[in-house]
Formats: sequence, C-alpha cells, structure tokens
Amino acid sequence: MPNPFENAIRNLVQANRYANVPSGIFEKIKKPEQVHKFTIRTSARSYEGYRVQFNSARGPYKGGIRYHPQVDINEVKALALWMALKCAVVDIPYGGGKGGVACDPKQMPAKEKEAVSRGWAKAMAPHIGAWKDIPAPDVNTDSQTMAWILDEYEKITGRHEPAAITGKPVELGGSLGRDKATAQGGYFILRDALKANKLKSRTVAVQGVGNVGGWLAEILHDKGFKVVAISDSRGAIHNPKGIDVHGALAHKQKKGMLKGFPGAHEITNEQLLALPVDILAPAALENVITRENAGKIKAKIVLEMANGPTTPEADAILNKKGIIVIPDILANAGGVTVSYFEWAQNLTGYSWDLVEVDRRLERQMSRAFKAVHETSKKHKIPYRTAANVSALGRIATAMQLRGW
Ligand code: NAD
Repeated sequence: MPNPFENAIRNLVQANRYANVPSGIFEKIKKPEQVHKFTIRTSARSYEGYRVQFNSARGPYKGGIRYHPQVDINEVKALALWMALKCAVVDIPYGGGKGGVACDPKQMPAKEKEAVSRGWAKAMAPHIGAWKDIPAPDVNTDSQTMAWILDEYEKITGRHEPAAITGKPVELGGSLGRDKATAQGGYFILRDALKANKLKSRTVAVQGVGNVGGWLAEILHDKGFKVVAISDSRGAIHNPKGIDVHGALAHKQKKGMLKGFPGAHEITNEQLLALPVDILAPAALENVITRENAGKIKAKIVLEMANGPTTPEADAILNKKGIIVIPDILANAGGVTVSYFEWAQNLTGYSWDLVEVDRRLERQMSRAFKAVHETSKKHKIPYRTAANVSALGRIATAMQLRGW
C-alpha cells in the first residue's frame, strides 16, 4: 500500500519547482507542527487515537476526524497536510488538521461510538478550540459524533464554544447546507472546469456513495447529468441508460447496500473505474486509482471528491493520456468552506439561510477554480500542480509575514 504522506510530499516537491518557495520555508511546510497520539479507553476496550496539526501560519488548524480500521499515523499526517493546502487553495483562514481513531464503527453499537468520541474529546480538549484547532466530520463520523465531541469539550472547559467544532447538527449551531457542501462545491468546480475546457460532458460514474458521493450523484442527476454507475464498499451498480439515483440511494438506506437495486446490474468497483464515461468521481477512500488500473480509465475528467484517490504514478499516467484531473484539494474543498461559514456564523451568533450559504460557496469555489486554472495555463501544468502552487504561495507568504 503506497504511503499517502510520502505521495503528498512528492506532489508538493513537484509544485515547488513553479512556486519557488525558499527551501528553509518549504522544509517547515512539509513538517507537522504537532502530532498527538493517544489511547482511548472505553469500558469495552482500548483504541489508538490521533490528531495531526499542520501549519498554523494562516489560522487555527482545521480538519475532520475519521473512524476506520485502516487509520494510521501516515494516513492522518497526509490528510492533515492536504487540509492545510486545501484551506489555502480556497483562501479560508485556517491551517490543516486531521484526526482519527483506528476502529471499526460498523461493528460498534452507538453507545460505544459515543464513548470513543467522548474519549477523543477528553484527550484533545487542551489542544482544540475556536482559535486553536477546529475538528469536523470525515469518513464514518457525522453531526451526531460532532455533538458528542462538542458536549464533552464544553463540559471540560465549562463554557459554550460552538465555533470549536463544525459539522454540528443545525440545532446545536450547525450551518444549513453543511451536509451537502462538499458535493455542492464539487459541482461548482466541475461546472466551471467543463466551461473553461469547452467540454460538454454528461455521463458520470461515482465511486462511493457515502456523504460526499451520495450527494454528488444526486446533485449531478438533478442537474441533468446521466449518472450511469455508483458504488459502495459492497460493490457497484451500472445502467448505461442512467440510474435513478434517488431510488438507488433509498434502496441502500433500506437494505444497507446498493446491490439488489432493480434499476441496474451489478459490477465491481474496479469495473466502475474503467467505464466509458465522461466524468469519473472517486468519492470513497485514498489510493484507488493506481499504476495498475490508471491505464484502463476512459473518463475525460477525474473529479477527485475523496482525499488522495490517485497515486502519483497513476496521476502521471492520467496526465499522459490527456485526462483532466481535478485534484482533491480543489474538488472537495466545499466541505471545509461551509465549515468556515459555520464557524463564522457561530462567532457572530447569527445564522444564514441556505440561499446565502450556497451563494457564498459558489463565489468561493469559482474564485479558487479561476486562480488554479490561470496558474495551470500560465505554467502549462496540470490542475493538481497548479493547486499546490497556489496553496504553497499563500502559506509561504503568511509564514514570511510572521517572520517564520
Ligand atoms: P462516508 O463514510 O460517508 O462514505 C464513504 C463511502 O465509500 C461509503 O458509501 C462506503 O461504502 C464507500 N466505500 C468504502 N470503501 C469503498 C471501496 N473500496 N470502494 C467503493 N466504495 C467504498 O465518507 P465521506 O464523508 O463521504 O468521505 C468520502 C471521502 O471524501 C473521503 O476520502 C473523505 O476524506 C473525503 N471528504 C469528505 C468530506 C466531508 O465533508 N465528509 C470533505 C472532503 C473530503
């Protein structure tokens, strides 16, 4: 299994050929500021917990918490670095953070998940806060998880501080539109990318219909795209005439899986990646597009909704084939952008309606796309390198201004 942190650093080194950040500063950007590794004990058992905090020059650390059996320090470090870059690409005032717990939430009753979440908050309470580090949901964590973490954190600090956590339930200060924000942002980026590249692409395959991929498939379907394949961890379904996405997701809700949905036939996740579609959106986990399968990809655009779905070797193959790869730190930045809106609303004690949230999200994403597109054209480099160039420049400027 490729080491995602090493992959992230390789991409950064490549981008710095164009960003030209002085080596002293570049070396500092590559290293986390703090790495927290701790044990969470519940009445049932112990778990390894993590939080990695990357580059606070532009603001407090920001990023999600993942519950998954494969969570380890290299994965959390990569995800934290990507958060620092992502926040800089969309120009929101944060550094990067990511947390995780190595556990299998599918095997855990809600009580155990609550105990783990409270344990994570207890361990991290001295190191998080509205102006220090602001956690949010990621794979297998949701608004309920954030509610438990906020509650435990506020019990420890003895005061309300809703801006310390984002992705909360709306009733506890969450923002309208946060649930669909990552997908909505991905849609805005895809729309702008199609226009900028004069493409009329319409057929789509989405790998992983969790929070991000499920919303993306629904939004694209409702916008008139033809979603021909979707998948979850149990397998994929395909219908070249287009899938009734709402029906398929309702089926998954009821049965726990997409398999068995009557409006499509079953294929594997590997087959989904190789379908003759215009747009392929990996929205599950990292390292799914690899040296082994990149040559088989037929899409014109790969919209990276997951973090780190493409290995550097695969990326080189896709670039050579002329496939446009819209990198994770741009494509999926809508989630953290609406998290930023949630934080801003909490700090002012005033909430915005959904129209306001979407309007601001569209503006932020379109601005980011324009900057990355222009950098890409200027240097004749792929969007991934251009996004890293844009992020490195902004982070380095903040560090230089602080005298780091
Ligand atoms: P999730 O847990 O809600 O969904 C993940 C989905 O992927 C599930 O449907 C699962 O069945 C499926 N899956 C797992 N392994 C798979 C496999 N091998 N093949 C196909 N499908 C598989 O998680 P999420 O919040 O939707 O996050 C998905 C990705 O998006 C992650 O990389 C995450 O870091 C990234 N991301 C999430 C957010 C957010 O706001 N939630 C924001 C930015 C990036």
